[in-house]
Amino acid sequence: MEHFNPGIEDVMNEAKKYIHDQKDIALLEKAANYAANHHAGQFRKSGDPYIIHLTNVAFILATMHVGPVTIAAGFLHDVIEDCGVTHDELAADFSEEIADLVEAVTKVGTLEYKGKDDPEYQAANHRKIFIAMAKDVRVIIIKLVDRLHNMRTLQYQSETSQRRIAAETLDVYAPIAHRLGISSIKNELEDLSFLYLNREEYYHIAGLVEAKKSERDNAVNQMIQDISSMLEKNHIPFRIFGRSKHLYSIYKKMVTKHKRFDEILDLLAIRIITKTELNCYEILGYIHATYKPIPGRLKDYIAVPKTNMYQSLHTTIIGEDGKIFEVQIRTEDMDAIAEQGVAAHWRYKEGTKYDAKAEQREIENKLSWFKNFAVYSEDESEHDSASEYMATLQRDVFEANVYVMTPKGRVIDLPNGATPIDFAYRIHTDVGHTAVGAIVNDAMVPLNTELHTGDVVQIKTMKNTGPSEDWLKFVKTNQARNKIRNYLQKKETEKKEENIRDGEKILADELRKRGFDVKEYMDKKKLENVYKEFRVSNYVDFMYGLAVKSINPTIVCEKLTNQKRSLHEAEVLTRVLNKEVPKRNSKLGLIVPGIESMKMTIAHCCLPVYGDHIAGYISKGDGVKVHRSTCPNIQSVKNRLIDVYWDEQKADRYYDSDLVVVARDRSFLLTDIVTVVSQCKVTIESVNAQVNHESLTSTIKLSVRVQDLEQLTNLMANIRKIESVLFVERTLH
Ligand code: MN
Repeated sequence: MEHFNPGIEDVMNEAKKYIHDQKDIALLEKAANYAANHHAGQFRKSGDPYIIHLTNVAFILATMHVGPVTIAAGFLHDVIEDCGVTHDELAADFSEEIADLVEAVTKVGTLEYKGKDDPEYQAANHRKIFIAMAKDVRVIIIKLVDRLHNMRTLQYQSETSQRRIAAETLDVYAPIAHRLGISSIKNELEDLSFLYLNREEYYHIAGLVEAKKSERDNAVNQMIQDISSMLEKNHIPFRIFGRSKHLYSIYKKMVTKHKRFDEILDLLAIRIITKTELNCYEILGYIHATYKPIPGRLKDYIAVPKTNMYQSLHTTIIGEDGKIFEVQIRTEDMDAIAEQGVAAHWRYKEGTKYDAKAEQREIENKLSWFKNFAVYSEDESEHDSASEYMATLQRDVFEANVYVMTPKGRVIDLPNGATPIDFAYRIHTDVGHTAVGAIVNDAMVPLNTELHTGDVVQIKTMKNTGPSEDWLKFVKTNQARNKIRNYLQKKETEKKEENIRDGEKILADELRKRGFDVKEYMDKKKLENVYKEFRVSNYVDFMYGLAVKSINPTIVCEKLTNQKRSLHEAEVLTRVLNKEVPKRNSKLGLIVPGIESMKMTIAHCCLPVYGDHIAGYISKGDGVKVHRSTCPNIQSVKNRLIDVYWDEQKADRYYDSDLVVVARDRSFLLTDIVTVVSQCKVTIESVNAQVNHESLTSTIKLSVRVQDLEQLTNLMANIRKIESVLFVERTLH
């Protein structure tokens, strides 16, 4: 593949076709000479002086009608890497803008592509390439052209280098060229890569194409004549020519669609270029009126442009002898975009002031995917790994193949299987976050509905709503996934902070209630010492536990302040749970297993006496209260009860007991009762009698002191024997 090797003069002539400003021409000459001087004495592997590479790059750039700064940067793109010129020197000699461009191109160039053996490494490199390029589309264009010339001269590299560079070109650069719509470069890069990666197949297909070339050429020429005369008759302006598919696209179709060479439909291809959009449809009408179109093959990319801005009408018709032709119909402008994409759209126009930032913005608006691409490239933190990043690009940028529309007709490209939520996040983050419903083609649909090409999608939003975790199960774009995850994480953090505040308040209140200095004990170091006792390992979890009441603030308080009070209920619980049972006497003649110095009191409600069945109730902050086990007051709090026992080594002491006696009223009743009590050697603390005049009964309340249950039972039996006594009972308060 021999190419014309332009010199500096050729570049200047090409540039002067559209650049006329003397200052700009001077800049180009200065850049050309600067490059020639700095690269003097350097040679390409081909043996050519190095400047040949630079004039080639600059020349291709000039044919693309890029601006003078970009051509100058094309001349200079290797001086940092190969001549030791620094960014600052270049900025001083030319401008900051040119120095930045060259530096970015250099960065991309020094990343070595290692091939597919180490996917993670490869992905990491690709990511760096994208990041370096995403900042300024001119960097991509220079890099693509640089790569194009290197591919054209790849035969001088070693075979290993050839394979590595070709693989990288096919994996990275051709897809980028495709997405930017620069199909002229894309096709050439693909075919050159194909040649070096699969020489055998390349020549095989080239041979097949060649074999029937004259037969096909005849058919195409006949069709061109027929269509031409038809259009002339109808006075429609046009250019028409046959075109050949590039080899790699034929190969790809044979492989991916499992077709034999002769089955590949659009080998006979014709392109018609006309003046206006209306002309395109007119031409289509005439062609369909004359030739039978194959159903389902008509594509209107004028009404619905591809996301790389490509516009054209495609149809496939059956000509004479049943030969099949693919026909493309488009305007000159559309054709320029089809060939050069982004580069054509932003062709240099003299007199308009170039603004790199404005252009970048415009590109991002025109090419929605480019915006995402740039966002992905910048935001490294959102990606777990380089390979995930590549998978994202692959899915969201390079393999977008569902095209849906906003109600205003803006085309949004999404990966296969994408849902309204993916669409919503593509429109705007806030639209995604507040999406509550989706209307697809005028019908309300669930948010997880799979979208199809041509769907018109509208998102219903509602303020103050947020994404649901469920969305993560069905979204297809990483953009949506990341936005949802970030939102949920932020929400969780906020909730955590709220929990921490709640927990802190609960603990502070508890400390205050107990009269401790809140500041002193809310100290993180002090708190750290008690985490372990609650099976948490950090402040956040600890406060969360307090907030949701899985950690008891009272116990925390005790631990924190190191209280050794006798009425330590936590200690009781702990020891009971741990089944530690050292027995200790209490002054009341009671034993509580496991408790050392424990405040213990007799419950006033039921006043148990020695010998009663009893139970210990762990009170809140007032030690253990000993109740009769039948006391109604403890029946509902069994979880706070512990076993207590009377000490068999009976202490010499008395127990209070309250009795109530009901009797028919009569004279000397009270005297008889008091006599019986004293006969039983029981001390009376108080007596209180009341007469109920209606029932003619008397109720006597009696407080006594007894040694034990036996004495009390004996007393009660004797009172019961007193004349007119109806019953006697121990009081329950
Ligand atoms: Mn280069």
